Amino acid sequence: MLSAAVSPEILARYEPVIGLEVHVQLLTATKAFCGCANKFGAAPNTNICPVCLGLPGALPVLNEKAVEFAALAALALNCEVRERSIFARKNYFYPDLPKGYQISQYDKPLAEHGFIEVPAADVGTKRIGITRLHMEEDAGKSLHEGFPDSATRTYLDLNRCGTPLIEIVSEPDIRTPAEAFEYLTRLREILLYTGVSDCNMEEGSLRCDANVSVRLKGAERFGTKAEVKNVNSFRFIRMALEYEIERQIEVIEFGGRVAQETRLWNAGEGRTYSMRSKEHAHDYRYFPEPDLPPLIVSPVFLAQVRQQLPELPEVRRARMIAAYELNAKDAQTLTASREFADRFEAAAAKARSPRRVANLLLSEIGGRLKALDLEQEQSPVSMDGIVLAADLLEEGKISSKQLKQLFDICFEKSEDFSAVYAREKPEQITDTSAIEAIVDQVIAANPKQVEQYRAGKTTMANFFVGQAMKASKGQANPALLNELVTKKLEGLRD
Ligand SMILES: [Zn+2]
Repeated sequence: MLSAAVSPEILARYEPVIGLEVHVQLLTATKAFCGCANKFGAAPNTNICPVCLGLPGALPVLNEKAVEFAALAALALNCEVRERSIFARKNYFYPDLPKGYQISQYDKPLAEHGFIEVPAADVGTKRIGITRLHMEEDAGKSLHEGFPDSATRTYLDLNRCGTPLIEIVSEPDIRTPAEAFEYLTRLREILLYTGVSDCNMEEGSLRCDANVSVRLKGAERFGTKAEVKNVNSFRFIRMALEYEIERQIEVIEFGGRVAQETRLWNAGEGRTYSMRSKEHAHDYRYFPEPDLPPLIVSPVFLAQVRQQLPELPEVRRARMIAAYELNAKDAQTLTASREFADRFEAAAAKARSPRRVANLLLSEIGGRLKALDLEQEQSPVSMDGIVLAADLLEEGKISSKQLKQLFDICFEKSEDFSAVYAREKPEQITDTSAIEAIVDQVIAANPKQVEQYRAGKTTMANFFVGQAMKASKGQANPALLNELVTKKLEGLRD
């Protein structure tokens, strides 16, 4: 096996060089160059027309929304958007490409020179360059499985033909599989925040190919790279890269030569397989698409797109850490999706203490969800419910112990907090004389602690508050109780 063949000392002498190519389907209502619905899951070969099938005489018309989304993604990824870009034909034959070419962009892509920042162990953050972001159309799908005669036949579904894509090509700046994983995670998060794609890997709306080579540390030239294709999760990409790096080092260490080729990841076996040689690089005979004029993105159009740019995840996290006094991990949880972060912040703004809303959401609700293995969307307690709970706590109308009991009921009965609170309305003792009686009892029962308080240890007050709250079975009004404990203890100091 690989790991046995190459020792960690030898592995450490090499440096991997990784570049990623990510294809992302855009969430437009219609396709890139025709009016067909752009929808996943429709019956096979129903969303097609002469344009996306490339029938003779059919002419493409560019979808403006696709340009808007592509430009929005480009801006979110810190790219410079070119005012004039050119569509080109990429010619190749494949059964699921009836036109015999794909409309793409070649030497004048829509956008260039972007970057994504990823966390790096020793230097805080590392910038991974984005070489280019260009527009293109997707091909159809060959179905090799799932039919009774799949052993001998391949079926074609051309619904995907003409789906608008952006391809995002990174610089070969990535040095470890973990960095590749971070880059992809950030990229996906940014795209989700912009709303240009659902980035659903299972449905193929985000696909990633990785170029990987190794070289001796300090070497100037890159090694020969292999391309790993068709990996359908970020976790598998990390595994495929780990495998591929060791494989290439082993080939070199045993005197061989890394072949320039395309390799497929086999998740079941945890290894890559050679699919086809790339010795003779494909010649796609690119030429400018004669049926489409140059794409002009005017400064006015671009300014309008820029206005749609949302607050991006990294910036939002930094702001929320300050605003709600969160740690980095909690900020990550609250910004997991833009929709969730929006709902949280809208709710928090209504509460007396936004920070308390964050705390309840993360600790009380988050803890219960985790214990039951549920997602946030499955929580029985709505954001409004959490706001109500936070306010009641803030106003001292319920104790934190009572709140915990109410949340327990919410989760047991799958009911929102407002309903549970209205029904169960915990008894609260607000009668001053009743609370006073309890405080007196507690003070009488703990003479030693009273002495400590009188000797100047005023933090002892917390002890009495706790004891009295316990004696009241958690029902004493916390604000009132606090006030009375302090008053009584101070009275004893004179
Ligand atoms: Zn069509």
